[in-house]
Amino acid sequence: GEHSPASPAPVDTHCPYCSLQCGMALRPVPPDGGPGDAPGGRPGGVEVVGVEVVERTAFPVNRGALCGKGRTAPAVLSSRVRLTEPLVRRPDTGRLEPATWEEALDRIAEGLESTGRAYGRDAVGVFGGGGLTNEKAYALGKFARVVLGTSQIDYNGRFCMSSAAAAHQRAFGLDRGLPFPLADVARTGCVVLVGSNLAETMPPALRYLTELKEAGGRLIVVDPRRTRTAEQADLHLAPRPGTDLALALGLLHLVVAEGRVDEEFVERRTSGWPEARAAAMAHWPELVERITGVPVPELRKAVTMFCDAESSMVLTARGPEQQSKGTDTVGAWINLCLATGRAGRPLSGYGCLTGQGNGQGGREHGQKADQLPGYRKLDDPAARAHVAAVWGVEPDDLPGPGRSAYELLDALGQDVRALLLMGSNPLVSAPRAAHVESRLRSLDFLAVADVVLSETAALADVVLPVAQWAEETGTMTNLEGRVLLRRAALTPPPGVRTDLWVLSGLAARLGWEKGFPADAEEVFEELRRASAGGPADYSGITYRRIAEEDGVFWPCPERVERDDPEGVESVSAESPLVDSPPADSPPADSPLVDSPPADSMNAGAHPHPGTPRLFLDRFATDDGRARFAPVSHRPAAEEPDAEYPVLLTTGRVLAQYQSGAQTRRVGELNEAAPGPYVQLHPLLAERLGVDEGAPVAVVSRRGRAVAPARISRDIRPDTVFMPFHWAGPGRANTVTNPALDPVSRMPEFKVCAVRLEQAEG
Ligand code: SF4
Repeated sequence: GEHSPASPAPVDTHCPYCSLQCGMALRPVPPDGGPGDAPGGRPGGVEVVGVEVVERTAFPVNRGALCGKGRTAPAVLSSRVRLTEPLVRRPDTGRLEPATWEEALDRIAEGLESTGRAYGRDAVGVFGGGGLTNEKAYALGKFARVVLGTSQIDYNGRFCMSSAAAAHQRAFGLDRGLPFPLADVARTGCVVLVGSNLAETMPPALRYLTELKEAGGRLIVVDPRRTRTAEQADLHLAPRPGTDLALALGLLHLVVAEGRVDEEFVERRTSGWPEARAAAMAHWPELVERITGVPVPELRKAVTMFCDAESSMVLTARGPEQQSKGTDTVGAWINLCLATGRAGRPLSGYGCLTGQGNGQGGREHGQKADQLPGYRKLDDPAARAHVAAVWGVEPDDLPGPGRSAYELLDALGQDVRALLLMGSNPLVSAPRAAHVESRLRSLDFLAVADVVLSETAALADVVLPVAQWAEETGTMTNLEGRVLLRRAALTPPPGVRTDLWVLSGLAARLGWEKGFPADAEEVFEELRRASAGGPADYSGITYRRIAEEDGVFWPCPERVERDDPEGVESVSAESPLVDSPPADSPPADSPLVDSPPADSMNAGAHPHPGTPRLFLDRFATDDGRARFAPVSHRPAAEEPDAEYPVLLTTGRVLAQYQSGAQTRRVGELNEAAPGPYVQLHPLLAERLGVDEGAPVAVVSRRGRAVAPARISRDIRPDTVFMPFHWAGPGRANTVTNPALDPVSRMPEFKVCAVRLEQAEG
């Protein structure tokens, strides 16, 4: 038909990948004569075949900058390998073959229901993802608990941020990755970056570190490898993998020994110092040097930089967190901040650089085994009562906490016999992946919703082709706790449906009569009510406000407290919502405030402005004090021995994202990072007798991965590194250790014992 000569206007949205959630605009591309690859269309009648990325400089977090992953993301929309029709495994051929949506959903409903009937409701599991929008995370959690009635739900975010979340909760009474906007990082005096290679994982964030240094601030990077990020540092500490906890204790010891404790802060705003102090004093610097390999003079230098600055921050990422002592390790770094008065103050504090796109929001809305929406605890009677009322069920009908992600995967085919999986590819991303693969294969029934036939989807009985980021609207909560609106710029191709539509259709088939909305904004309105009054309170956030304010930081109750005598319960679909901010409300990014402006307190109808900065007046614990953790060093779950003498650590590269399900399908990214490798020091390479590029087998008690050697002085001689984005013989997670942190249930991705062998070319 006819199409408009003018290009449709660009649509403001966000990158599909990491937790920076870079702002971008997508300009729908009308056909220019050729049909193009990208199916899809745009409401309003203008035919569209794809989108192109346009800079969106107004968005404050990335100010227009994108990394190669974000820039090339539209390629996945038009990829020839994306799924465009449901697949069902035929019993006669054993193969996945095209089916109608009707048949596919019927098969799933039947598979889940019959398993529940035969083995009990907890025999049905649900596995979600940290890339799902808030609406999907919420709907998936609700679906598991009220439609399936199972306790067995968890998600891959358990592998991402759970240790930092647990440490945050323990110390501050609340977990928001960064308790301040990312822009504050550029304005503090000293940043200690522990186990984050953000120059590769989220390159636009590097700018804040550059600005920090330009303003005279100092950067300390802690990483066993000299990464592109470590190259930027004023001081690079390279501890042995698995010893970040001892390192933090050694620094705290020196803080005490050198009289650098902020006694006034400790006295007024913390509890538990004597025990934490005693634990740190047992870790004298020479001992810490022996454990970590970091020389005492470097420890002293770090303490001087950190304490001489007027304000300082510690930011952790997966390095210290993905350990069987991840919670205590983060706790030790928080202790350092508390003892020196570097928390709960402007431009100071501890923060976690969450990894996945919705790593933050994904953990707040109920797809985590122990959480209900609003970041409520599933075993808290008041929380159960509140959420049950929103869902129209009795509190007693809600199941209790379930298994954590690895434990759930490990139970497949045994206690858990059917699984619905959305937004995750555990066959590549879970530890001890060959075992997880065999557990997945032993299921009675597996259904997977994804955009491509991932390695995990290829094992499924039913595969559902679902919409991608640019084809559906939803909210994401970035690493700062800033709730963002990811808008659709295209309609999905024919044959593709949204995850919310899928859940709605399954709920109807499984006899849920109260309605299960498929519209994202409708789900968000329900999420607002479910979160109201909880730690992660979204009740004051609307799609309109997010759009107008470039994101809103939670907690954001519907109104400032004193104004709403009926409390947050008064938010309902019917109630008229005042959803524009007062004209004088501060821009989210600038003022150092953590409470609403004073003049909004006495009016009746002002909405809450959101909370860019937490803890400036008090911490979120019962007594308002931050809690020290009395933590001590302990070894990794698996230390090197005669048989497995080398340490393996795993991580990420610039051009790939997580399990690679999307980025491995983008030509430009594949060219830049075509496959796994084993990074090893020349001394190790020489001992092994391998040259650059020769195949090396990395062997642990769990299995063997083979990849070409990349010889480099940028890694400790006792350690090898592998990126984990690939399946097949070079799958790093075949080798990794599923030993779990006792508190967060985080597996120990970052350290295990291996031996190296020459492998067949
Ligand atoms: Fe996307 Fe993260 Fe890259 Fe930004 S840094 S473009 S959010 S992958």
